[in-house]
Amino acid sequence: MDVLTRLQLLREQIRHHENCYYVLAAPEISDEEFDRLLHELEKLESEHPDLVTEDSPTQRVAGRPTASFPTVEHIAPMLSLDNAYNEAELRAFDERVRKGAGLGDAAVDYVAELKIDGLSIALTYQEGRLVRGATRGDGTRGEDVTANVRTIRPIPLALKGGPTGRMEVRGEVFLPRAAFARINKEREDAGEPLFANPRNAAAGTMRNLDPALVAKRQLGAFSYQVVLSGREPPQDMQKHRDALRALAAWGLPVERHHQRCSGIDEVVAFCERWAEGRLALDFDTDGVVIKVDDLALRERLGTTAKFPRWATAFKFPAQQAHTKLRRIEVNVGRTGANTPYAVLEPVFVAGSTISMATLHNADDIARKDLREGDTVVIEKAGDVIPRVVAPILALRPADAVPWVMPTRCRACDSELVRDEDEVVWRCDNSSCPARLRRSLEHFASRSAMNIEGLGESLVEQVIEQGLVRDFADLYHLASAQLENLVVAPRDPKSARAVPRKLGKVGRNVFAEIERSKSNDLSRLVYALGIRHVGEKAAATLSRHLRTMAAILDAPVEALQTIPDVGPVVAASVRSFGHEPRNRAVIDKLAAAGVNMASQQPEVDEGAPGPLAGKTFVLTGTLPTMTREEATAAIEERGGKVAGSVSKKTSYVVAGEEAGSKLEKARALGIPILTEEGFRGLII
Ligand SMILES: [Zn+2]
Repeated sequence: MDVLTRLQLLREQIRHHENCYYVLAAPEISDEEFDRLLHELEKLESEHPDLVTEDSPTQRVAGRPTASFPTVEHIAPMLSLDNAYNEAELRAFDERVRKGAGLGDAAVDYVAELKIDGLSIALTYQEGRLVRGATRGDGTRGEDVTANVRTIRPIPLALKGGPTGRMEVRGEVFLPRAAFARINKEREDAGEPLFANPRNAAAGTMRNLDPALVAKRQLGAFSYQVVLSGREPPQDMQKHRDALRALAAWGLPVERHHQRCSGIDEVVAFCERWAEGRLALDFDTDGVVIKVDDLALRERLGTTAKFPRWATAFKFPAQQAHTKLRRIEVNVGRTGANTPYAVLEPVFVAGSTISMATLHNADDIARKDLREGDTVVIEKAGDVIPRVVAPILALRPADAVPWVMPTRCRACDSELVRDEDEVVWRCDNSSCPARLRRSLEHFASRSAMNIEGLGESLVEQVIEQGLVRDFADLYHLASAQLENLVVAPRDPKSARAVPRKLGKVGRNVFAEIERSKSNDLSRLVYALGIRHVGEKAAATLSRHLRTMAAILDAPVEALQTIPDVGPVVAASVRSFGHEPRNRAVIDKLAAAGVNMASQQPEVDEGAPGPLAGKTFVLTGTLPTMTREEATAAIEERGGKVAGSVSKKTSYVVAGEEAGSKLEKARALGIPILTEEGFRGLII
């Protein structure tokens, strides 16, 4: 067999198995067999680079990070849909359709589809090859995110058969719940802010400039529409259902729960069934899209200025509930941040019982005027993190008083301090037990010192029993001490729920602690939990300065000459190194035999960060990030923050009450980002 034939055969086989695995969820071969095919293809292509084609399965992540996304025009506008919020509005929609079509009382055939809570996307195929992927944008023009779209495994780079010429496929890109949970867990481990819901995470991911990172996120996709510009639909595509069948046959993912409904009664029943049923799905859905099945009838109905007349989106009832706000309590994080949260009378919302909700910060509570004893409206945003929306003033008890943020730390009674420009109150006492607990959890976490088995409950035990007062104490624990630790049962309701000694588990943790002594310096620097020093900054610092002593002693100016280390990170490292208590702990760690030198090869000039060469201007108050955090995030990725807007500004990040800087940015035509858009860049 000649090389070209073998290449084509391999690509066809791999495409077929990708479709089985990612679209049909029915693999026909093992992962090893699949990898073997892919490796053979990679090897063959590396020997014959001139035969590599853009649609080869090896070419999903081919590009390097881009600087920005160009805007592109859709071949036909991507209209939004009119909404229906209840049964009466659904029936009114049906009424309009029948009237508009002159059908009298005859039942109309509809197709009901689950509405995916993700990001709309338009895929252009030319002669069956994926040539472009674009976001919806304003409906007429979107952003060209082709490099990112190519990394989404369920989206085929080449179609099986399919129409010739140019065709646009529309659909939705989303983050499956499992992938969302995994990403947030990783972010939590790294001390990074969490995504509020899968939709935000998917939107942020699609706007990331680095395709390799997008590939890691494991986005899902569904398609639901074919747009053949300026051409009549073929004979075998007279109904919407035909189009869905065709999409699936070409190898595109189609959400399988769609259903033909004869008349509006069946539509109503479908919506009712899925209002509950959706909770069991692996992705978020916020409603049902109802479309007229007959494409000729659609043509007759046409569109209004904003919406097609032949479709509507039924929105599931908001996932809200009323309950009593029993107390407002304060949680202490590892940086000492004292964050208020709501203790609620348990209430059932969207498939689970809620008894706690986030309250963000004291300012937010004051703005909403939430008081203990209030009856409040709570909401599950994107069905994930519950939040308190507002108090119901009519139900407020007469004796309810405005809530006042405590001035002293909940855990150690030290006076709280509030940095300028910040909404967060912090405990500055480095031996605060709550801070210590969180710091130790972070210290031992997978991306830090990676001490397996030293989780939440064990950390609590060693602190409670007075065995550990700082990081260094961990390295003075004897194996026997860990083995003899008595721990509470994991599940207190289980029949075998008796406190027990750690035994062998303790021995393993001891071995893990020993092993962690030889970790690379970058892990230790990250594990110390220096503010604004994330995993990447820790790695950069240790690769450039080589030893812990050099990092602690480096003057601010020297720190700032390191690529990707800006003034905020530099100042934070400097003030950490200045503090005698931190020095003492590090000396103790060194005395215990913990490695204090970098094992990574020396770098001449590290790879530039994804934001290298970009200048940002921050203005106004962002909803959840402080200005310091935003600055650190930019600097850590190689970008710069400037004080004023000029032609050289790459982006302006604007929050609430942004003033003249925003106006100037508009006048100069500089891209303006909201916090959400900004997060997309810094993922
Ligand atoms: Zn404290």
